[in-house]
Amino acid sequence: MKTLSQVQKELAAGQFEFSRHAFRRVVERNISELEIREAGAKAEVIEQYPQDKYSPGGLLLGFTRAGRALHFQVSFGESDAHVCGHNAAKSELVSEVFNLGERRVLVEGIPALVCDRCGEVTFSRETTERIRQMVHGAGRPVKTVPMDVFAMA
Ligand SMILES: [Zn+2]
Repeated sequence: MKTLSQVQKELAAGQFEFSRHAFRRVVERNISELEIREAGAKAEVIEQYPQDKYSPGGLLLGFTRAGRALHFQVSFGESDAHVCGHNAAKSELVSEVFNLGERRVLVEGIPALVCDRCGEVTFSRETTERIRQMVHGAGRPVKTVPMDVFAMA
């Protein structure tokens, strides 16, 4: 198992990738890679998940230099393989809709790794940071489309 200090070092050094959930949160809440590194360097464990689905995990809380609180759900598993322990994944291009307050944006053609075994999707640090910047002002949409909205209640 990795120690907390190993996990902190990896976060500080930018050695991480994102689950689909984390990827969405980081883009929607406009959390920069720098903020993750700063907060990750000194993050502390606030909850332990020894019986997580595949490997022991935990919830960490850390603060950026500016004092922004960030939560990290991390795995303490030794392996650098994907979370289920399998390490064969295929590259795919996926699309995601992000809720940016009042505004929703669609990003197409996002490179992702899809695990051959469990189907979990992961996104690289670089992809995540690029999309975050793109939708928060650094990029221009290639088109604007009307959208039908359905509701069950
Ligand atoms: Zn997997």
